[in-house]
Amino acid sequence: RRPARPQRDLVHPSGTGPYHLKHNPSIRVMQWNILAQALGEGKDGFIRCPLDALNWQERKYLILEEILTYRPDILCLQEVDHYFDTFQPIMTSLGYHGSFLPKPWSPCLDVEKNNGPDGCAIFYRHLRFSLQSAAHLRLSAMMLPTNQVAIVQTLICRVTGRQLCVAVTHLKARSGWERLRSAQGADLLQSLRSITSRAGSQSESASTIIPLIVCGDFNAEPSEDVYRRFSSSSLGLNSAYKLLSSDGQTEPAYTTWKIRPSGESCNTLDYIWYTHNALSVNCLLDIPTEEQIGPDRLPSYHYPSDHLSLLCDVIFREEAHRLT
Ligand code: NDP
Ligand code: CA
Repeated sequence: RRPARPQRDLVHPSGTGPYHLKHNPSIRVMQWNILAQALGEGKDGFIRCPLDALNWQERKYLILEEILTYRPDILCLQEVDHYFDTFQPIMTSLGYHGSFLPKPWSPCLDVEKNNGPDGCAIFYRHLRFSLQSAAHLRLSAMMLPTNQVAIVQTLICRVTGRQLCVAVTHLKARSGWERLRSAQGADLLQSLRSITSRAGSQSESASTIIPLIVCGDFNAEPSEDVYRRFSSSSLGLNSAYKLLSSDGQTEPAYTTWKIRPSGESCNTLDYIWYTHNALSVNCLLDIPTEEQIGPDRLPSYHYPSDHLSLLCDVIFREEAHRLT
């Protein structure tokens, strides 16, 4: 028998109390690279993961169980190669609106018996948000189109009437591609600046920027250029998971941990960025310990992907001074 799945706790960042505002309920955001089925079985070479644990007919329920345990208001996924036959119908029946953007040349297509290209997907809870506009982007680097994509949606919160811009992306993988990732990040930031700087609601001035959440597998450690670009951009973004650390300044030690024939990789690659003067983070789902992950690392019977899900609750900050 398989032992029970390790429990992850929702943790309040140090120095903040939990906010419970009836007129301003928090927004739960989940970020997850769910591991494309074709890549997991056909390309990744996770030598310590039993093939059994990768069987889609079981693994899909572990992914859905994790999503349903937390019922995020906004769900951002990478490496989705079962959108039309699984996530789209199931999430729709659960009250979500979904959108999918495949990679132009998904590596899944090289795998025999693939289920189509993998790509990014975004879901929002229809009771909470309505869609104002959406952009499907193919990221460029130095003016040239690349194989990586992003979805950007501007949503209207049905409770507060406020706009929220949400983006999902999956940047180029592997070492040696740091400059490409950085250029892709610069391209995405430029699109985000243009989308969020459109006039806010009619009552606000044209210079109002729309609060932003960017979820992604950036395939970049915090030491990389693309991370620096995001943390120092004019959009005023902060990385939510830094708030799990005691100093509020340190990213988790890992968001993915796997063993391939080439060796073990334990890296922080996944992020939830948020506009820190417009949103605040109420709580975060903690990161499993090394012991909980186990000696064979990820994926496993307990963890369906080689990446951990990230989850946080954010709320709109009260506007400090409004000139009306
Ligand atoms: P990436 O390099 O971004 O990686 C693709 C996937 O491979 C990611 O999901 C990544 O996972 C995973 N990955 C990362 N490291 C490894 C590893 N060491 N071993 C196995 N898998 C790994 O892919 P691209 O989008 O640049 O596409 C590359 C592939 O796509 C090519 O190999 C080719 O097969 C195909 N391609 C075909 C083209 C054509 O003209 N037909 C054009 C372009 C690409 P994670 O993000 O979790 O690290
Ligand atoms: Ca992968």
